[in-house]
Amino acid sequence: KTRLFSGMQPSADSLHLGNYMGALLQWRDMQVTHDAVFCVVDLHAITVPQDPAQLREQTRRTAAQYIAAGIDPSISTLFVQSQVAAHPQLAWVLNTITGFGEASRMTQFKDKSQKQGADSASVGLFTYPILQAADILLYDATVVPVGEDQRQHIELTRDLANRFNTRFGETFVVPEVQILKETAKVYDLQDPNAKMSKSAATDSGVLWLLDEPARTAKKIKSAVTDAEREVRFDRENKAGVSNLLTIHSVLSGRSIADLEVEFDGKGYGDLKGAVAEVVASEFGPIRERALELLADPAELDRILGAAADRAAEIADATLRRVYDAVGFLPKP
Ligand code: ATP
Ligand code: MG
Repeated sequence: KTRLFSGMQPSADSLHLGNYMGALLQWRDMQVTHDAVFCVVDLHAITVPQDPAQLREQTRRTAAQYIAAGIDPSISTLFVQSQVAAHPQLAWVLNTITGFGEASRMTQFKDKSQKQGADSASVGLFTYPILQAADILLYDATVVPVGEDQRQHIELTRDLANRFNTRFGETFVVPEVQILKETAKVYDLQDPNAKMSKSAATDSGVLWLLDEPARTAKKIKSAVTDAEREVRFDRENKAGVSNLLTIHSVLSGRSIADLEVEFDGKGYGDLKGAVAEVVASEFGPIRERALELLADPAELDRILGAAADRAAEIADATLRRVYDAVGFLPKP
């Protein structure tokens, strides 16, 4: 089986619909056909200021949601990044072959540092994509399923892998990015030109997996649309309506064209009502299961710890290859 790697930051109490549609849905299917490694990337989460108790809680919550959404810890390796030391160790080596200008071109850094104010952004936030490259390369992953927003980082990962291989000899597997086109990006309901994000300034346009169902329905009902009345997919001129149609289509399994026919002559209120229904029936069981898992944190920690041991075996072997290739002295 080919190896797959993907990760998610524990940067909020809950995952959102974008994480679910852009990442988790693909992961759930792919874990069956691939040797899947999924990582809660807590080292990445501290690139913006964190509260320690909250980070611990959010790490458990993120893992619980993966499992609740169908990631099966008995067939996939689901672990927490900080429990495998090879991640920051490899990141250090990759730092040394990454150009300053190259790292400066990463748009996620530009977005996030701007949000924080350029002066308060950390060096960790700047080198974030290099740690991400280490995450992927440690597992010899060939497939990296992510949302559209991560395309640039995977490109960087490929560049670094190729550069290292050229300079020091074949060491890394060069991964492929895999993005499901129409489902790749979910937009903020209040700002349908911005991606739905855990770190959005306000939460009124973000649909959280663990939110009270009534709150989620309310957010959908107040989603921004446009001054027309026609339910039609048109990303450019009707961003809000198109986002709602995409959400419905992915969760209900019906085509956009089919939905356009159904809502022909109906209003935006009808569309929103229907979207609220499909979202509620999708989120309901996941939310319930996640809350169950969180009621037993010791068991959750045990599952994650066992997976970290498995992950470390793979990661340590890769790191040894790298240390050897760059000329570090072997420890007898
Ligand atoms: P943050 O704002 O803290 O960066 P995030 O919402 O971007 O959080 P991540 O943990 O960075 O979430 O990303 C986890 C996965 O979810 C990635 O594969 C990413 O591509 C995907 N993803 C994130 N937001 C969206 C979105 N709006 N639509 C589709 N996929 C998304
Ligand atoms: Mg992100």
